[in-house]
Amino acid sequence: MANSKYEYVKKFELDDRLPPSNWLVVRIDGCSFHRFSAVHEFEKPNDERALNLMNACASAMLEQFPDIVFAYGVSDEYSFILKEATEMFQRRASKILSITVSFFTSVYVMKWKYFFPQKELMYPPSFDGRVVCYPKVKIILDYLAWRQVDCHINNQYNTCFWMLVKSGKTEHEAQQVLKGTQKQEKNDLLFEKFGINYNTLPAIFRKGSCVYREMVEEVGKLDKNGCPVKRTRKKVTVGHFDIIKTEFWREHPYILE
Ligand code: ATP
Ligand code: ATP
Ligand code: MG
Ligand code: MG
Ligand code: MG
Ligand code: MG
Repeated sequence: MANSKYEYVKKFELDDRLPPSNWLVVRIDGCSFHRFSAVHEFEKPNDERALNLMNACASAMLEQFPDIVFAYGVSDEYSFILKEATEMFQRRASKILSITVSFFTSVYVMKWKYFFPQKELMYPPSFDGRVVCYPKVKIILDYLAWRQVDCHINNQYNTCFWMLVKSGKTEHEAQQVLKGTQKQEKNDLLFEKFGINYNTLPAIFRKGSCVYREMVEEVGKLDKNGCPVKRTRKKVTVGHFDIIKTEFWREHPYILE
């Protein structure tokens, strides 16, 4: 529109369109949430209100951006998978990333009061983000497995750590007890010392959260013969599945097609 002698500055902007035929993964992570969770007195190791708030923000993302086909979240992070052929913002990396991070953050602030009605938001939270291209579905599945394995390792460690601290050990002592312990030893410690069977802890803690579109059947109005019209639609849904095994993907083949 406006032409001026200053227009040339626009040419300094780089073309940051991501290559075609790649799945895009945007991962965001809360900045200094160790501090944020302390200031807002999150329950340790897992504050369910905080996780549900993160999940509500991720659901809002899928409602807002149809090209996000799947999201996986744990702790203060969320990964969003955009379909291979997405033309969202002409695949411009800085647009995709900045809008993801700012939209998620705004929803987090807007919804805070519903999840923490008794707790004032003390300062503005922020999230960092990155976007990565993956050329094959196989790598997307490995990416998600990587995040879910991380969820498991951290949750198992944190569950032990906070049980030890709550039972009177200092944080340093708890660290020392856990140093070098294997997976089975941690499960044994939880069971023998605290009577906790790790596998019966809530799935939201052990598996993290998946947000995706589930096929749901709706019964609509009656047709002219008086029969109810059934139709299926896709509904944004949160679940806590094992996404390393193939079962979930076999049941939802349309997500990564
Ligand atoms: P960075 O800015 O580098 O990401 P960080 O302090 O956010 O630093 P992370 O590795 O992202 O470090 O870890 C997030 C921290 O936030 C966890 O260690 C945990 O203490 C806290 N946290 C996040 N979500 C929850 C939750 N739902 N319940 C309890 N604590 C949480
Ligand atoms: P895009 O998403 O491409 O940026 P846009 O609608 O935000 O689309 P812009 O070129 O950024 O388009 O223009 C911002 C528009 O927002 C302006 O055209 C104007 O209508 C409106 N706007 C922004 N700030 C103000 C303001 N302080 N007062 C009135 N209108 C404003
Ligand atoms: Mg980080
Ligand atoms: Mg963080
Ligand atoms: Mg994190
Ligand atoms: Mg604008």
